[in-house]
Amino acid sequence: MELPQKHSATGTTIFTVMSALAQQHSAINLSQGFPDYPIDEQLGKLLYEAASTGYNQYAPMPGLPMLRQAVAGDFKKRYNLDIDADTEITITPGATYAIYTAFTAVLQAGDEVIVLEPAYDSYIPNIEMNGARVVPVSLSAPEFNVDWDKVKAAVTNKTKAIIINTPHNPTGAVWTQEDWDALAEIVRDTDIVILSDEVYEQIIFDGQKHISILQQPELRERSFALFSFGKVFHNTGWKIGYCIAPPAFTTAFRRIHQFLCFTVNTPGQYALANYISNSNAPLLHSMMQQKRDYFLELMKQTPFTIHKPAGGSYFQVAGYEQISDMPDMEFAQWLTKEYGVATIPVSAFYSNKKDDRLIRFCFAKKEDTLLEAVQRLSKLSI
Ligand code: PMP
Ligand code: GLN
Repeated sequence: MELPQKHSATGTTIFTVMSALAQQHSAINLSQGFPDYPIDEQLGKLLYEAASTGYNQYAPMPGLPMLRQAVAGDFKKRYNLDIDADTEITITPGATYAIYTAFTAVLQAGDEVIVLEPAYDSYIPNIEMNGARVVPVSLSAPEFNVDWDKVKAAVTNKTKAIIINTPHNPTGAVWTQEDWDALAEIVRDTDIVILSDEVYEQIIFDGQKHISILQQPELRERSFALFSFGKVFHNTGWKIGYCIAPPAFTTAFRRIHQFLCFTVNTPGQYALANYISNSNAPLLHSMMQQKRDYFLELMKQTPFTIHKPAGGSYFQVAGYEQISDMPDMEFAQWLTKEYGVATIPVSAFYSNKKDDRLIRFCFAKKEDTLLEAVQRLSKLSI
């Protein structure tokens, strides 16, 4: 019996492939993006408290009210934005799911969606699973800024959505206000919807500030903004995130969400709600900046080329032209097997597997892990 191919991606996602290879070869895993240090003890205690005090049954479909209110309070505090907890916030099982759900709420067969590449690997399959067509627009190495003339040229009367991501995975590039202005100008007088993937909003360096689509009144009206607690509280395995969208968009989002998973695990939501409202956890961006700086300093002992330090996210892209001319997939596998350090080949983030001979390191790791990894890499010769 043959089942239909719902999307064009072949094989298994690169994150699973490289994490499995790392395990198989006992390599240090700087590939898939997740921290290797524990969550705040207080957050763990709150999860236990939730389960032991009876927060074990279905939460309301849009998410626990206390968590939605905590998110609204957090956006008021950090961005001075008014977001309605009842009509604009939906709690989801992670941002990956929220992106799929938003696409499903918006797309019909034959629509076109502009994707800026390199891009997080779920975007394109999600678009195709909805019968829509991907229109890729490349960002150009090594800066990975958006070429707005190229985006403008890619718009047709079939363009239904554009998905953007800042701070950017895998390149660490960060949008400026000029980028938002350019996007606003392109979509003005159209019905194009924006999906704004802002999962790394709190991981931004060198005194820069994240600028959210929610701060762009004109764009906010036509957008779904997607976030992930996993990136903020170092608990990627909890798989809890949220979508912020105007009331009519939120209604459309929930119309799909209620029949996909209906609701998200209750104890996790309870723990996060209490943690957000009461925590005095250290600021994430300074903690991550320390890790980025430490990693970049160590990397000077290796023959890798850092074209540009990551401006945000917990990823650093590096060139290996001084080491090898292998294709990046082959190089990443070789590095895992021969030097015991797993990374992600950047070609995995392009629909046509464009290979700029770059690999991505995740530096959301303990200092000891980064040190051990770079000691292994410093054995590489030019
Ligand atoms: N978007 C980007 C750009 C990401 O890097 C990630 C992290 N995997 C996600 C979305 C998904 O986050 P989540 O784990 O909450 O699904
Ligand atoms: N976002 C993470 C990364 O880019 C991993 C997500 C996943 O494993 N699907 O590495």
